[in-house]
Amino acid sequence: MFQNSPSFETSSGNNKMISERMKNLTPYVPGEQPQDGEYIKLNTNENPYPPAPGIKEFLAEADISRLRLYPDPASAKLREAIAENEGLKPGNVFAGNGSDEVLSFVFFGFFDGSNGPVFFPEFTYSFYPVYSAFYDIPYKKIKLQSDYSIRVEDYIEGESSGIILPNPNAPTGIYLPLSEIKKLLKNYRSDRLVVIDEAYIAFGGESAVTLINEFENLLVIRTFSKSSSLAGIRLGYALGNEKLINTLTTIKDSFNSYPVDFIAQKCGEIAVKDRQYAESVTNKIIATRESFIKKSTELGWEVLPSKANFVFIRKEGLSGRQIYERLKERKILVRFFDKPGISDFVRITIGTDQQMEELTEAMERRI
Ligand code: PMP
Repeated sequence: MFQNSPSFETSSGNNKMISERMKNLTPYVPGEQPQDGEYIKLNTNENPYPPAPGIKEFLAEADISRLRLYPDPASAKLREAIAENEGLKPGNVFAGNGSDEVLSFVFFGFFDGSNGPVFFPEFTYSFYPVYSAFYDIPYKKIKLQSDYSIRVEDYIEGESSGIILPNPNAPTGIYLPLSEIKKLLKNYRSDRLVVIDEAYIAFGGESAVTLINEFENLLVIRTFSKSSSLAGIRLGYALGNEKLINTLTTIKDSFNSYPVDFIAQKCGEIAVKDRQYAESVTNKIIATRESFIKKSTELGWEVLPSKANFVFIRKEGLSGRQIYERLKERKILVRFFDKPGISDFVRITIGTDQQMEELTEAMERRI
């Protein structure tokens, strides 16, 4: 049994020791992480290729006695390396324990319910409503267009405490051109935060990081989990105006001074510095994605346009759950979303060419 499920206390809510706050939590359910290695795992948008080769060397030769000491609470070298890569200053970079943690700090620090609800898309990263509920922030889900794309004009109208959008969006994979992000920032009030969650930007999109110096209310969130193949070490970061970064640092230091361990800081630094390797891996995934889209379209599947390391795909006459179940019988894991409006889709992570061939064979034969 590897499907995560809420604990007894959370689901029953009848334990007298538990706070009212706790009883109201509805946790995010991550994709299955089977521990037996039997599956072709295309359900959590991990990278099928290993991380930068320098990381193997570092881990093989790491000074174990260094583990006695706490890591640098400021992640200074890592932040310097990230800043240099982006043409920014270390003061524009905040590092955290996975971008999930960084996102939770953003919700806590910037979305104040007394200013109105936070706006995010109707279908988007499922952690956003979870963090909203965790911090008691009202939220409003903004409808997608009929082609599942985001219309930025819809976010400008109405009273809101801020906006958060993944670009490309998840689980659709649809990318919003930089000109649209700029339009949003130009027309939205400058005293509310706009967060662009760029977990998947390296797979063909243009980053909004170039707008940071122009818009003081823009925060860009990134992760090492996808394009850097480092989901296992939990490392994410935010890029933005120094004042925004200082706010995140204050939150970090009120919660956990050392969220990024010594190993993660060093692995992140090595990954950031090896741009050539990162590019070769993302280019490979993009090429595999494009040939998978072509092949599955030929097989009669509908695929939404994707600039991510996953595709959102459906086949007439089948529910997402049915597709998921039939592929699981073939030892292939994908993700479905039991939500009205997208329940006929599955989200499939782009794996190696061989994994995608096995998948298309299953799609051809069994479904
Ligand atoms: N944002 C989006 C849109 C995601 O899909 C994910 C991955 N589940 C994350 C953030 C979190 O990534 P991580 O915590 O691994 O950095």
